[in-house]
Amino acid sequence: MKIVSTVEEVRAQVKAWKKEGCTVGFVPTMGYLHEGHASLMDAAGENDKVVVSIFVNPMQFGPNEDLASYPRDLDHDAKVCEEHGVDLIFHPTPEEMYGDNFYSYVDMNTLTQELCGLSRPVHFRGVCTVVCKLFNIVTPDNAYFGQKDAQQLAIIKRMVKDLNMPLTVHGCPIVREADGLAKSSRNTYLSPEERKAALVLSRSIFLGKEMVEKGERDCKKVIDAMTEEIEKEPLAKIDYVKMVDLITMQQITTIEHGVLTAIAVYIGKTRLIDNFMIEE
Ligand code: AMP
Repeated sequence: MKIVSTVEEVRAQVKAWKKEGCTVGFVPTMGYLHEGHASLMDAAGENDKVVVSIFVNPMQFGPNEDLASYPRDLDHDAKVCEEHGVDLIFHPTPEEMYGDNFYSYVDMNTLTQELCGLSRPVHFRGVCTVVCKLFNIVTPDNAYFGQKDAQQLAIIKRMVKDLNMPLTVHGCPIVREADGLAKSSRNTYLSPEERKAALVLSRSIFLGKEMVEKGERDCKKVIDAMTEEIEKEPLAKIDYVKMVDLITMQQITTIEHGVLTAIAVYIGKTRLIDNFMIEE
């Protein structure tokens, strides 16, 4: 496994692989890798070669967010990648990605204006721009994203379709801790007390999912029950509990076909997300 930090090195390696007729799978990450990330690497193993990027992208963080404190550990990440059959890690600096001046952005309307886009107004512009750049640098055949970030997955799929990017985007299931909490690099921010309180997210997700599976079709009833469950936890503060159309990300009132139920909840200062999807 190679670790490189320049665009030129990635291009040279991928060019050599493509000359040999190899397919390339790509997993973009911000590092501090856990089993959720590893599941994407395993899925990418269906390609001849697997590239992982590790880049804490400044452009997707708002001014009062956790860019400076976001956890980083390249040695640990390299070990995880090695164990999961990764061939190349791209670990650029912000300078390598954005240089002294940077003027171009990839943005999207509608899909980015709901859910996390409301409380994180610059976030998805930063995500679209960096993922577009990474796709142009790595030129993968397939890219793998987690359903944990369901809105991000929908946005990336839409960007690839709208802009005719020549690759296929795959969504992979949420990986959870044994007690239900969705794995996240941000879970490391939680104190032991907050870690216990954070279970309210998955409890509320499982509750909502069960209601829908048992036949409930009224979104308000599901949202009210989930909200009530979260509000039982004194350390939790709701950002949103919403049900949206899986493709457009617009709010719905009745469940008819593909629906995403997504929540964002502050546990102390840490903002955590979770969701479930019904693809009908
Ligand atoms: P991040 O490093 O948080 O930007 O995440 C990189 C990729 O890993 C994204 O596609 C995430 O959706 C995915 N991911 C993060 N956590 C999980 C999880 N618990 N299960 C599945 N995928 C995940």
